[in-house]
Amino acid sequence: MAVQLEHALSKLKTTGVRMTPQRHAILSYLLDSMTHPTADDIYRALESKFPNMSVATVYNNLKVFIEIGLVRELTYGDSSSRFDADMTEHYHAVCEQCGTIADFEYPPLTDVEATAAVQTGFQIRGYRLEVYGVCANCTGITKH
Ligand SMILES: [Zn+2]
Ligand SMILES: [Zn+2]
Repeated sequence: MAVQLEHALSKLKTTGVRMTPQRHAILSYLLDSMTHPTADDIYRALESKFPNMSVATVYNNLKVFIEIGLVRELTYGDSSSRFDADMTEHYHAVCEQCGTIADFEYPPLTDVEATAAVQTGFQIRGYRLEVYGVCANCTGITKH
């Protein structure tokens, strides 16, 4: 994780985005947590360290990270967006009971993009795939 943070910091330098203690804390929290937190989760985790920080500040800093390609936003309709600093190709399994998001790897579905391009005439820029179910934690609870 420390390597990832260093990599992110050097990328930040090349973009000319100013690194502030808050940004540093937000980025390292995102890289350390595998939970895909919401802006609110991040705010609550860091508010004791930065009493003057608001959820809006967290959100604005996340937007900066998203613009320079360090963080990915996962939107879920009306529910809060979740944020992911793992920019490697990976997919998400979402628990329908507790909202946990777990990463998993699978080869890129390039044939889906090619088929979509042929059938729709779109220039395909990407796709989003998620699987839904009940996480191990929740199935454990329902069993007992
Ligand atoms: Zn669950
Ligand atoms: Zn992820």
